[in-house]
Amino acid sequence: MFWNYQVQIQTKPILETVFASRQCPCSKSRPRLRSADESRESDGRRFSEYVEVLTCAFCGWWFAFKDMWDCSCASVPDRALRTVQAGGAALATFSPALDQAQIGLLTREIEQHLLGRGSADEWATLEDASTAILREFGYEARGTARSKDGGVDIVVQHPDGGRAAIYAQIKHTRNKVGARVLRELIGTMSIHATHSGLLVTSSVFTAGVFRETEMAAQSGFFVELVDGARLLASLRLTYRTAAPTVAEILDVARPNLIILSGEFDV
Ligand SMILES: [Zn+2]
Repeated sequence: MFWNYQVQIQTKPILETVFASRQCPCSKSRPRLRSADESRESDGRRFSEYVEVLTCAFCGWWFAFKDMWDCSCASVPDRALRTVQAGGAALATFSPALDQAQIGLLTREIEQHLLGRGSADEWATLEDASTAILREFGYEARGTARSKDGGVDIVVQHPDGGRAAIYAQIKHTRNKVGARVLRELIGTMSIHATHSGLLVTSSVFTAGVFRETEMAAQSGFFVELVDGARLLASLRLTYRTAAPTVAEILDVARPNLIILSGEFDV
């Protein structure tokens, strides 16, 4: 998954401390983090999963964790295997590439596009925002020349430089994005001998896109789909215009660093 905040292993001690203390590391006074959203799932017997998002009222810093209990694989019946995964902390390093007014305009256009309405004046802003989000996710991203002839909008490099580039196509439109756009992207990917792509839209995809994405994966071309809802979640996280919800966190910043694992009494 490319469109997801990658937690660095160096941040693990910070995440462990925050999980234990529920305090923001932003200042000496260590302000207490507030719960922004939570969700709980359980089969009532063996398995339970709890996700919570916490934010700092002072700096906007946020923290998300997923706490999983599984009784089916512990060594004795009254004990459970517990795993806690966390993430999200270091987004505070984001360097603003766009001002709040631009973000506001773009956000409103995406909200309209999700309803199949609105104008598409902010397409250049969307390309800048997508580049900024990908950088925040830990990639080296650069926009290509702005021509409206389809093709590739952003070329994304892994920070280690070892793997082939990811090609990203950005569509700012109120219309549903269909399979033709996907085929264009895969065509460009195959010409450049790369097998990873991102298709980003401010609106939604047709059913045909999902079907053909699966078919393409079977032929070795992997395209990750980012629709307007995931885009909005990414914008809210990277620019912190609102406290993130559990759904948004799971869309773009899935907690993926294990900070606790072991057997515990139930
Ligand atoms: Zn703080």
